[in-house]
Amino acid sequence: MKRSAIVIGLTLVLAALVWQFAQRAEEPFDPAFLRLSPLEIARLPLAVRFDQPMGSEHGALTYNAQPFRLNRHLGDDLNGIGGQNSDLGDSVYAAGVGRVIYAGVPGSGWGRMVILAHRVPEPADPQKIQIIQTVYAHLDQILVKHGQLVSRGEKIGTVGTADGQYLAHLHFEVREGPYVNPSVGYADAPLNRLPPERFLLEHRGAANESLNPPPR
Ligand SMILES: [Zn+2]
Repeated sequence: MKRSAIVIGLTLVLAALVWQFAQRAEEPFDPAFLRLSPLEIARLPLAVRFDQPMGSEHGALTYNAQPFRLNRHLGDDLNGIGGQNSDLGDSVYAAGVGRVIYAGVPGSGWGRMVILAHRVPEPADPQKIQIIQTVYAHLDQILVKHGQLVSRGEKIGTVGTADGQYLAHLHFEVREGPYVNPSVGYADAPLNRLPPERFLLEHRGAANESLNPPPR
């Protein structure tokens, strides 16, 4: 009797520890805004070229099912051309060389989300450097960890349904600035979001000699 009580007690303590560890592994988002520090910004890789995060590097075999600002949308919903759930589990690639500044499940309809941060020369004035974030949401799997450096075109996750909330697609956003927050996918104002299609058009096809140095 006494022994079984000890076993139950130990099991409960162990379960509590495992639970805490699992919570930490998910990295729940701190609701207080996070701002990248000057040191973190300095350590972001310089990204001079961006490609599509799904399909080929120019987006073949995908279409944009809900473009930026349609229905107050803050990103693009990228879908495999097969429609429905045909793209479930397809690769999601880093649009540019960057650092993982968020990888987790922020809640409120997002499912699994990865945010990469990049330092990007402005096309009109390459001396000016913008802080750009690319956001990949509703993922089925996350294949990167917070703090990790990723190359352009590196597989960072797979297309998902946000645990059955939607038909499989990639919600892709481009954001500007140092504040890290999963935030919202729809709003009346564009907030700090940039039109993803235009951003990719402006930043694709950089000359070979100006391509990124290796990130590591
Ligand atoms: Zn969306």
